[in-house]
Amino acid sequence: MPTMCEQYSIPPAMPGDARQGIAAAGFRWRSLLPRLHILACCVPLAGLLLSACTEPPRDYQQSLFIFGTLVDISVHGAPQEQAAAAVAAVDADFQRMHREWHAWKPGGELVELNRHLAAGETTTASDFLLPLLLQARTLSLQSDGLFNPAIGRLIALWGFHSDEPPPGPPPSAAAIETLVAGKPDMQALLIEGNRVSSSNPLVQLDLGGFAKGYALNKAIARLHEHGVDDAIVNAGGDLCVSGRHGDRPWQVGIRHPQGVGVIAALAVADGECVLTSGNYERYREYEDVRYAHILDPRTGWPVRHVASATVIHRDGGVADAAATALTVAGPDEWQRIARRMGLVYVMLVDEKGTVYLSPAMAERIRFAGGQEPETVIGEL
Ligand code: ADP
Ligand code: MG
Repeated sequence: MPTMCEQYSIPPAMPGDARQGIAAAGFRWRSLLPRLHILACCVPLAGLLLSACTEPPRDYQQSLFIFGTLVDISVHGAPQEQAAAAVAAVDADFQRMHREWHAWKPGGELVELNRHLAAGETTTASDFLLPLLLQARTLSLQSDGLFNPAIGRLIALWGFHSDEPPPGPPPSAAAIETLVAGKPDMQALLIEGNRVSSSNPLVQLDLGGFAKGYALNKAIARLHEHGVDDAIVNAGGDLCVSGRHGDRPWQVGIRHPQGVGVIAALAVADGECVLTSGNYERYREYEDVRYAHILDPRTGWPVRHVASATVIHRDGGVADAAATALTVAGPDEWQRIARRMGLVYVMLVDEKGTVYLSPAMAERIRFAGGQEPETVIGEL
């Protein structure tokens, strides 16, 4: 297939200041680019991501510096002016999301809501935030609490409510245990209409494991409003696509979580999103032990057994929350959680490089560069 990408390459690292930018809603948008779990790939990104595409570039491509990182938007087949207007609208949306859904920077709606919940007060949520709360609560219950956006206090205790995680030893086991024993979970979040309260004052919302996927879906919807049907929105490897790239689907590569380059490639269909959670990229380190930013809500400690979890789903929020939950679930529990969440396309890579695949995912991905890692297919 002459126009198919034959090589994947990682874009140049961002400048240091870019990588030290803001985090939105607790999720580290800035951390996504250097990691590049998934490299959106094909003709539209020629010169940026690829070296082996043969068609002349005729797509509109723009990188937005938002959420402290770059989000690449590629539009196929639309007039430049129309594409530029659509991307500008997405940019405005992202800026608003960053402000309002941020988990710890003052001034946004989520921080304010958390303040009320901690005080035991009932408050109102805007139409901009409310759908996230509702969906996050549903997904948390479906994941058996492994995706638990109510553990903001634990995440803060571990130092991940800062642009750079702190050096030094982990928090005391007693402090962790106290928070875990207090059982902050989404069942405690009471939502009646737009009125929100919590039966547990330890609930502190952090949408970092979910909002990025939700935002990517919204970006595609905004592009549609502007008449853009064929596009890919790629937040450093987490992406949603719309339409096709000319006469074929968009192609992406999934970065190897432990090495250089991609571990696998796949074609992404119209309306699908591909989200990856990794426990290897953002972490704090002390005495040669890495403490990753994804916590097991049952123990309060960072997960250790999974390097990355990738989920394909039409709903970016589902894919994002599920990828987080599966990272927590690990090789022993991923099938149970995937079944509970109704997932079809799942891939886990553990710390030894073993790849766990759902049957449908096994049919879709192609391992890159002739490498055939040890794979385990697990029925869902
Ligand atoms: P990545 O940033 O690698 O895409 P995730 O989508 O899993 O990873 O998001 C990780 C973020 O989610 C953390 O930085 C934290 O804000 C939050 N988080 C950590 N552990 C959990 C958990 N068990 N459930 C829900 N959110 C979590
Ligand atoms: Mg996630």
